[in-house]
Amino acid sequence: MAERMLKFVATPQRTPDKRSAAERSGDWDEIYREFSAERATEQASRCSQCGVPFCQVHCPLGNNIPDWLKLTAEGRLEEAYEVASATNTFPEICGRICPQDRLCEGNCVIEKGFESVTIGAVEKYITDTAFEKGWVRPPSPQRELPYSVGIIGAGPGGLAAAEQLRRQGYAVDLYDRYDRPGGLMIYGIPNFKLEKPVVLRRWDLYRAAGIRFHMDCAVGKDISLAELRNRHDAVLIATGVYKARELGGPGSGLSGIVPALDYLTASNRSGLGDSVPAFADGTLNAAGRKVVVIGGGDTAMDCVRTAIRQGATSVTCLYRRDKANMPGSMREVKHAEEEGVRFEWLAAPEAFLGDRAVAGVRAVRMHLGLPDPAGRQQVEPIAGSAFTVEADLVIKALGFDPEDVPAMFGETGLAVTRWGTLKVDHRTMMTSVPGVFAAGDIVRGASLVVWAIRDGRDAAAQMHRFIQEKAAATVAVAAE
Ligand code: FAD
Ligand code: SF4
Ligand code: SF4
Repeated sequence: MAERMLKFVATPQRTPDKRSAAERSGDWDEIYREFSAERATEQASRCSQCGVPFCQVHCPLGNNIPDWLKLTAEGRLEEAYEVASATNTFPEICGRICPQDRLCEGNCVIEKGFESVTIGAVEKYITDTAFEKGWVRPPSPQRELPYSVGIIGAGPGGLAAAEQLRRQGYAVDLYDRYDRPGGLMIYGIPNFKLEKPVVLRRWDLYRAAGIRFHMDCAVGKDISLAELRNRHDAVLIATGVYKARELGGPGSGLSGIVPALDYLTASNRSGLGDSVPAFADGTLNAAGRKVVVIGGGDTAMDCVRTAIRQGATSVTCLYRRDKANMPGSMREVKHAEEEGVRFEWLAAPEAFLGDRAVAGVRAVRMHLGLPDPAGRQQVEPIAGSAFTVEADLVIKALGFDPEDVPAMFGETGLAVTRWGTLKVDHRTMMTSVPGVFAAGDIVRGASLVVWAIRDGRDAAAQMHRFIQEKAAATVAVAAE
């Protein structure tokens, strides 16, 4: 091993080449170029093969990172793919969009003193290569089981569960209110972070494996949860969180103030070739507009960078805390700054100006005060510090809460937490309704793709156990 690995001392960290801000701001392609085979091998060989790999400990999927790095360094890519895909349903997607600086790479031991191994980029390289070479096959089962599962929501949580259960032989039906699967991976996250064919090629594999997709089917409206419970031996709810947090204050009802997800969905749909009237008529399009985005999370970063690509004349982000305390990934902020976004840190909107349509935002400077009981510093306005930013499109990116799921499904027996997320028994992942399981953002609140995958896989294992135990009990009763 020694001659192939442990190269971090002599070999510096090199991420895949990032396209220049000027070039990438003019298109919708991902911003990093592909790793060459030599670069991937070289970078994988920097791993020191730790006895206790902290990278793996801090990966929500517990990915066997040292093993696939070693296999990549040895040029054994098909085996690297087998190892990478054993624990991760979408390694190529996590490699692109996980906040690695907070997860695996941020905990790589060689980060101390040397820069971390480029784990995410190697993970993406392995699986993109596997697709190119035809190593990624439909998750078809070896034998069919006489049981069926219904999954509501075809985001990463629902898809991960569907794949696991189909492999085991269950008949799998997926129901989604959208016309394409992928959830936020298809209509939330912009193409320059995650190109849409990367998501949609998985759809082809799932259909080939016999997973049945019922698209444009809103559960609670087009079909009831009760009906799905009758149809299937177990049901999974993986519907995500979509209720946008609102802004108040004078002028907040003016036209030209739009929710982030409506804006991003219109952009993604238009990129996919759909006809989007609100995009075409300019309601949800930043071309030629002065844009202000309010918020400091990843959704806000996606909005500012989308506005740049649409040809906004100016893009300003207002966030009430400072850069160090923002929830979004630092890497995304850096990309946005390079692309020409202006950040007003420690600034919160006070009023929206204009007659019928918004023409500006009056904001006030904030300072960070004493920590609250959770340890987070409170923000307080600074008297007399108001300033105005011109804006004819304001995008609200303040986060998401769950919809009222019991009301949506007409199932009052579904217990929710005080945040409105679904209550589950964390050992079994079952909700308060027997045989109904839940996974992803609808349980955790707005989170990450990698956590939704983890939950979907765990839920699949629990659904399998539930169905098998029920079947065994039925056989036992029949035998009595
Ligand atoms: P979702 O992806 O939300 O999927 C839920 C699915 O359920 C949707 O397809 C929806 O149509 C469907 N559905 C809802 N209600 C019904 C119903 N009644 N009937 C039928 N179908 C229904 N995470 C990262 O890791 N990295 C990132 O860079 C990142 N960027 C993000 C950017 C944005 C703008 C947003 C909003 C989120 C981002 N996230 C990111 C978070 C990540 O996308 C989510 O945590 C993840 O998609 C949650 O997966 P999920 O399967 O629980 O739900
Ligand atoms: Fe890192 Fe995410 Fe891959 Fe885990 S899934 S190794 S956290 S990029
Ligand atoms: Fe390799 Fe870093 Fe993981 Fe150690 S922590 S096994 S050096 S990637």
